[in-house]
Amino acid sequence: MSNDDPRSSSAALVVGRDLHKAYRMGPRAVEVLRGVSLEVPRGAFLALRGASGAGKSTLLHLLGGLDTPTAGEVVVDGRSLAVMSGKELAVFRNRRIGFVFQAYHLLPELDALENVSLPARIGRVPAPEACRRAAQLLRRVGLEHRLDHRPSELSGGEQQRVAIARALVNAPDLILADEPTGNLDTHTGDGIIDLLCDLQAEHQATLLIATHDTRVAARVPHALELEDGRLISR
Ligand code: ADP
Repeated sequence: MSNDDPRSSSAALVVGRDLHKAYRMGPRAVEVLRGVSLEVPRGAFLALRGASGAGKSTLLHLLGGLDTPTAGEVVVDGRSLAVMSGKELAVFRNRRIGFVFQAYHLLPELDALENVSLPARIGRVPAPEACRRAAQLLRRVGLEHRLDHRPSELSGGEQQRVAIARALVNAPDLILADEPTGNLDTHTGDGIIDLLCDLQAEHQATLLIATHDTRVAARVPHALELEDGRLISR
């Protein structure tokens, strides 16, 4: 395999080893991931493709330490997430990982500047510096005129731009975007993908975008595909 193949590189930022995830539904266990192994090289820009229900969100949640595997292990930057306490994991996620969700998940009572600066404040960055970073990022995503707007006063595309700025505020090593265009019309979604492409290049970030949309996946240099709970090669 070539060096930039996400299943083979040795300079991996994220390693998933034989990941299994089953959800219990009453007496039944629904097996969603059935032995997923991958290595995401530092600085990689990858799409995670698969039909709706294929397990993309589940895998992203495991890689980002939002959920735990039934079996297998996730290692980020040489550290196994399994051995971290809940508090260590929360700090790790705050400092090292930026999340972008389909439904934005902004806090409705906070304005754009406060939403973006919040992860920095949680990470104990002093308020003036957190605000400076947030304002700079909001400028970068084209929202310098919306700093004091609450989510309900923003369009879907604007809310996703705020969410992207929030994901970047602690300069994470890894950005995980789960169907970031899923709630947007095609034109607005294209703008979001353009922005993510530009920011990935500017920040040399490691970016993984889960999408069922083949148009979105086609914009990303490399793709992994989930099918029947396993990664397949195309
Ligand atoms: P995708 O992101 O590819 O659409 P998901 O990872 O969200 O897929 O879900 C994969 C499968 O796991 C789906 O069939 C879904 O219904 C199921 N699933 C996801 N979360 C849960 C849960 N908390 N409990 C039970 N089943 C779940």
